[in-house]
Amino acid sequence: MKIFCPCDNSFSVKHNSTINIDKSPEVLKEIANGSFLKFECPKCGRGVRSEIKTRFEWPSKGQTLLFVPEANRIACLNICSGNKKPDDELKIEKDETPVIGFIELAERIACIQADLDPHALEVLKFFLLDSAKDIKNKKIKIVFNAPLADGKFEFYVHGLKADEVAVMQVPDKLYDSIAADIKKKKKDEVFKAVFLGNYLSYQNIFTEGRDNN
Ligand SMILES: [Zn+2]
Repeated sequence: MKIFCPCDNSFSVKHNSTINIDKSPEVLKEIANGSFLKFECPKCGRGVRSEIKTRFEWPSKGQTLLFVPEANRIACLNICSGNKKPDDELKIEKDETPVIGFIELAERIACIQADLDPHALEVLKFFLLDSAKDIKNKKIKIVFNAPLADGKFEFYVHGLKADEVAVMQVPDKLYDSIAADIKKKKKDEVFKAVFLGNYLSYQNIFTEGRDNN
């Protein structure tokens, strides 16, 4: 695998295309602190972050993720919706849930690590944005950060004000009621609509803030 540094140097790196998180738990820290897939350029010493497609197996959590580079977002969505055939560049196995880009990867990992149901969390994010005021025509992104000690979840909301990230705290009761409804198989359009094939995201229904890059 070749990495290109802004100093015009290119260098080879080794990277496992499949990582078993149970066997390599150190990767959790790397993903959380942003050092995952960061390589030091041997010429200028700069840390270069490169998105490389990676399959994450996490047997103890019953999860398999496919980390897809942001550059392949549109291709990934098209494959998940059945509008595009998988090719050599991007193939998504039946057991893989794709997460696109570093932010989605870190968020999903944090969610699973906290033993939360990603499905319920994405539905909750949709409800939060759907009920929010004054967000019309704004490119909003909401990202789960962590469960807090006092029975609240913390989210980061991007795009309300330029260059500012807002912190939103939400009672975990909201999450609990959604998780219970999903378990009861309550028929709610939203519960299904957060899925586009294997790709699970509130962005599948909340198109106001959709990231099209
Ligand atoms: Zn360099």
